[in-house]
Amino acid sequence: MLIQAATLTRMDELAFRIQKRNGRSRALVVGMHETPTSLIAQFREQLEWASQHFTITGLEGFAKLWEEHSESYTNPKCPVLFTFDDGRESNYTVAAPLLESFGGRGVFFVVPAFAECAAGEALAFYRSRINPNSRPGDERWEDWKPMSPGQIGELADRGHAIGNHTLTHQRLTGLSPEALEHEIGDSARKLTSWTGRPVDAFAWTFGWNAVDANAWEVIRRHHRFCFAPCAGTIDSRYDTPDLLWRREIEVKYSAAEYRFLYSGLVDPWWSTRRSRLRRMLRVSLPGNVE
Ligand SMILES: [Zn+2]
Repeated sequence: MLIQAATLTRMDELAFRIQKRNGRSRALVVGMHETPTSLIAQFREQLEWASQHFTITGLEGFAKLWEEHSESYTNPKCPVLFTFDDGRESNYTVAAPLLESFGGRGVFFVVPAFAECAAGEALAFYRSRINPNSRPGDERWEDWKPMSPGQIGELADRGHAIGNHTLTHQRLTGLSPEALEHEIGDSARKLTSWTGRPVDAFAWTFGWNAVDANAWEVIRRHHRFCFAPCAGTIDSRYDTPDLLWRREIEVKYSAAEYRFLYSGLVDPWWSTRRSRLRRMLRVSLPGNVE
């Protein structure tokens, strides 16, 4: 109802105009999962629409937000970065080439133990580790078929960023220092061995609060960028690369749904969670924001 009301009253258009006016220091990160072949046309439409309001970028372009003189960045459209969780093969076959056709590059958050699953093991791994709510019969191959280490290396060669999503899709709360190093550090080392590059980005698994201060310290030791499954607009005057907000907007969402989500009208609902997360991780902010 809220989405409908917002669309009918053109509140989403207004929100975009405000977003543009507040300009240069802002960016949006979109979080997606499977990108099925059957939804290519729908995905292309969403990207076409997004490219009218935002500049579709990659991790390198996104990082410029924190560079000195970013104020002189003349593009009036705020950058949007597309990220994909778990390392599904449909991201390799559908998402990567589509993003490339818009001049963008993705960040693919990969689970090395999933990528290494033999053909007969991937579905069981998906059900037990990645999506415990999955019901047999509901799953299409796009949900559970992983990218191979070779495909992951190829995406990195084509300018996409390969991010770390833990070694085994582990929940990161209450773990020992050794377990954290295994899930985060060993995972990063394995990804580097596949891509020949350092792994700059990390995204933790499951919910917005499925992390703790100890885990976050280990994440920061290994990675420059840490993405939270918690919605918000990123403002480089207040946000630092080690705690970044992502809005989940899936390929299957309708135009009304994704327009509403891109507009940022949903962000206020997440502000309590952002504050709680900052407190949990003991992140201090310059000034009094939120
Ligand atoms: Zn995941």
